[in-house]
Order: sequence, then C-alpha cells, then structure tokens
Amino acid sequence: MILDGHIHTSNTPERECRESLLERMAEAGVSGGMLLSMDPLGDGKCLSAAERLDKLFSITGGRPNLYTAYWIDPTADDAARQVDLAVSYDVNAFKVICSRFHPSDARAMDTYRKISETGRPVLFHSGICWDGIDSANNHRPGGFECLINIPNLKFTLAHVSWPWCDECIAVYGKFNNAYYWRDDVSCEMFVDITPGTPPLWREEVFKKLFCGDYDVGHNVIFGTDSYAHKYNVTWTRDWMQRDGELYEKFGLAGADGFLEHIYGQNLLRFLGLSDEKFEKKVPMVAESANDTRVRKI
Ligand SMILES: [Zn+2]
Repeated sequence: MILDGHIHTSNTPERECRESLLERMAEAGVSGGMLLSMDPLGDGKCLSAAERLDKLFSITGGRPNLYTAYWIDPTADDAARQVDLAVSYDVNAFKVICSRFHPSDARAMDTYRKISETGRPVLFHSGICWDGIDSANNHRPGGFECLINIPNLKFTLAHVSWPWCDECIAVYGKFNNAYYWRDDVSCEMFVDITPGTPPLWREEVFKKLFCGDYDVGHNVIFGTDSYAHKYNVTWTRDWMQRDGELYEKFGLAGADGFLEHIYGQNLLRFLGLSDEKFEKKVPMVAESANDTRVRKI
C-alpha cells in the first residue's frame, strides 16, 4: 500500500475533485494519503475555518486511507478556537507555513502546544518557499529547534528543507541526540521527502539522508505536493521510479520493511494511527560514538 503524505486541495467543486482524485491515485498506484486544507492566508483566505474544514472533509469523508490536515495560521487571534474546531471534525493533523512569522513566534508556540495536547502532529513547510515574499529566515530547518521543548509533539519538515537539506538532516540528528541529554524531551521529528529536492539533487540528498549515521527508517514520509483535483499521475510515477532506482542503488529496496515504512507505515505512525513500537538509535559523538544508546518509541 502506497500513501502520499502531502496532497493539496483547492477551491474546486468537491464532487469533481473527489472523483478525479480517486481515479488518478489508482492510476498512479497510490492507495490514499493526507490531504491539506486550503491556505488560510492564500487561496482560502476568503473562507472561514469551518468552510475550509467542510471542503476538506467533503473530499475525504468516509474514504478509507484519505486523511486530513487542517492548515492553520498559528499566530491568528482565534488560533486556539480553530484548533478546537478542527479537532471537533476529528482532523488527523495540522499544517503550517511560517512565511509571515518565525517558527518560534510566541503565539505560534502556544498553538503548537495546544495541538500537541490534542495528540495531533504538525506538517511544516521548510525550505525556500514560493510564496512571493521575503521568508527564507522563517523556513530554515534550524529555526524549528524551538519545538524541542514541546512535549509529545510529532512534527515533520517538508521537502527535506530544500535547499537546506544538510541542515535538515543535522537538525534531525540533533533531535535524536537530545534524547541522550534530556529525559524530558518527547518531541519527535519526521522528514517529508516531498519534492522539494529537484531531480538533480535527489541522489545526493537521499545518500546523505539514508546512508548516513542517523536512524531515519521510521521517520521519512513519501509525498508528492500534487493537487487533489488534478492529482499528477505522471509526476507521481516519475518520482517513485526515480526514488526506487536510488533505493536499489543504495541497497535499501530489499531491506526489511524499508519501503513499507517510507510509503505508508511512517505516515500512519505520524498520524497516531499505528502503534508500532521500536528502538531508535541515539546518535553520539567522538568517544561515545561506539556506545549503543536507544530511545524506546
Ligand atoms: Zn505543499
């Protein structure tokens, strides 16, 4: 089963959108995925929170394997009310793009804390953002270190933070290493490999992400950035083909459970829909590097 962890929705009629999505996903060999509501500050700014949620759920409602992420502006005056509203719809996750504020903005931090208390994860855009404004400093992976103090938060950085992929991988290592320093750290980082990384960079990024020292097998999520109403079959197939060749090249394709996790199990665990238990290797430095330390997840 292949799940796509990053699918946008837009203001097209729900019925048309749902039919086209299901058809095209089947054609691409994808069984489902996570759909993101419209942008509260962009194409969805004329719609209320309830209207954006209604629209999202009218596409996904009742369909097995279609999950929902409510796109929230965590700095909005009524952000707490929006979290409650989205939870009343039983949304699976939240989505945030920090273009107009730093990830550590105090209002946003309060909202992430509230989201975490509901047991929902957050998908953040990270990397250069095609938003038409000066925003790079709000999207760098290092800026998300502030989340380390939010109890039990699961979050993912989209696009391997392209072009700051090295920094993204380093921040992932830092979050895992923090389990050594502090028993109270319970935040967990995931990496969303939605392109993002243009084809030219993919091999280098995958080599660094998958063949380095960090234990990433349970924390990487496949996604395409397609739109629900025109789910891009060719784009999806091309990326799966390209990625598949790299997984073969790096000897990962045959590794036990590897592809199942990247293409579905990790998204389900991110969403709290899998109770998979495992031990994550805690990366260490220098004289401690041979110590085998793990954090039970
Ligand atoms: Zn996206």
